[in-house]
Amino acid sequence: MSAPADVAIIGGGIVGCAAAAFLAEAGVSVDLYEGEEVAAAASGRNSGSVQHPFDPVLRDLHLETLGHYRELADFDLPEEPVGVVMLARERAVLEPSVAEVARDCPELVPALLEPDELRTVEPAVRPGLWGCRLETGYPVRPAAATRAFAKRAYAAGARFHEGETAWPWVIGARARGVLAAGVRRPAGAVLVAAGPWTPEVIDPTRAWRPIVPVWGVVAEIEMEKPPRHVLEEAGVEAVGAGGPASIFSLVAGDGQVVSVGSTFLAEQPDAPPWAPILRRAGERFVPGLRRAKVMGVRACPRPQSVDGRPLVGEVPGQEGLWMAAGHGPWGISTGPASARIAVDALLGKGEIPAPLSVARASG
Ligand SMILES: Cc1cc2nc3c(=O)[nH]c(=O)nc-3n(C[C@H](O)[C@H](O)[C@H](O)COP(=O)(O)OP(=O)(O)OC[C@H]3O[C@@H](n4cnc5c(N)ncnc54)[C@H](O)[C@@H]3O)c2cc1C
Repeated sequence: MSAPADVAIIGGGIVGCAAAAFLAEAGVSVDLYEGEEVAAAASGRNSGSVQHPFDPVLRDLHLETLGHYRELADFDLPEEPVGVVMLARERAVLEPSVAEVARDCPELVPALLEPDELRTVEPAVRPGLWGCRLETGYPVRPAAATRAFAKRAYAAGARFHEGETAWPWVIGARARGVLAAGVRRPAGAVLVAAGPWTPEVIDPTRAWRPIVPVWGVVAEIEMEKPPRHVLEEAGVEAVGAGGPASIFSLVAGDGQVVSVGSTFLAEQPDAPPWAPILRRAGERFVPGLRRAKVMGVRACPRPQSVDGRPLVGEVPGQEGLWMAAGHGPWGISTGPASARIAVDALLGKGEIPAPLSVARASG
């Protein structure tokens, strides 16, 4: 099959906007359809930490994404990581994670910190806690990368249709374009990058659900002295599997407003009641949160795949219909690299690595 001269993208999050930039810069005519506005969903409402996903497969996506961000205009990636500190009340909780990270991702240089050492490294945390510092974590504004890629795509000639919900227009198992605002818009290929909505955009019967929404609530809290590091409560792997519905995380941006999260919920929550709950949970780790003022609260769904890795490639049995979605909690840290892989494959210039291929969700 020859490379398509025109591509319709459904979804204006980090993945769709990065793909639009790469395609437009490759000389492809691009139309991007976004039901609301660019970065309306998780790509604009996340916690704002570009960080290593602690997964050897996703590591390559993350490292490539850092490279894309370093050359992205209108986007400030900090020169060096501030460091992520995992927190726990007991040493025994952290020890297995330290050993696992040291084995699988030694580049993170995991360092177990006794309570006194931890307070020297990060004075904002409560005395008596244990920590594990990891060499990653670049705080960014939540929507900044997506908007910067959208701007780059626009400059390269991509057309943005914000406020236009679109659906693939498929005849005889071949994508012909999209249906948007009741009109058929022909395209040589369609790339669905609709985050957690991707399965229902591809299969409106909802029988095929390789990606599900996992709702996160984040409170914006103003602190007098924000922590220097990205902080995370140890044990995120237990969340959602009968474990707690929320786990403490804190990302400080360039001002005094920090993002305190986060929930992992199957259903869309009423966000405002979660703000005091998240703050109280945070006080157990960062006492300064007690006097801090809640400035806002936001909720949106993470696109969670079954194995936690994105699904990229041409949808089996649907010629010309492509997808790139399912980045779970790591989309800002890895999404642009997935978009690049999808674009290269779509243009016949590369293969999809097997651990990321959509083929694994076809059975
Ligand atoms: C609370 C929270 C905190 C997070 N923190 C971080 C973090 O610190 N670091 C990190 O790396 N990741 C983080 N993530 C994860 C990250 O935000 C997501 O993985 C990423 O934004 C997903 O990007 P996406 O482009 O795949 O999808 P989305 O951002 O969901 O974008 C999909 C877009 O498609 C549009 N759309 C859907 N259906 C249609 C249709 N039919 N027609 C047109 N448009 C449509 C939607 O309106 C939406 O704008 C966090 C997520 C949450 C929820």
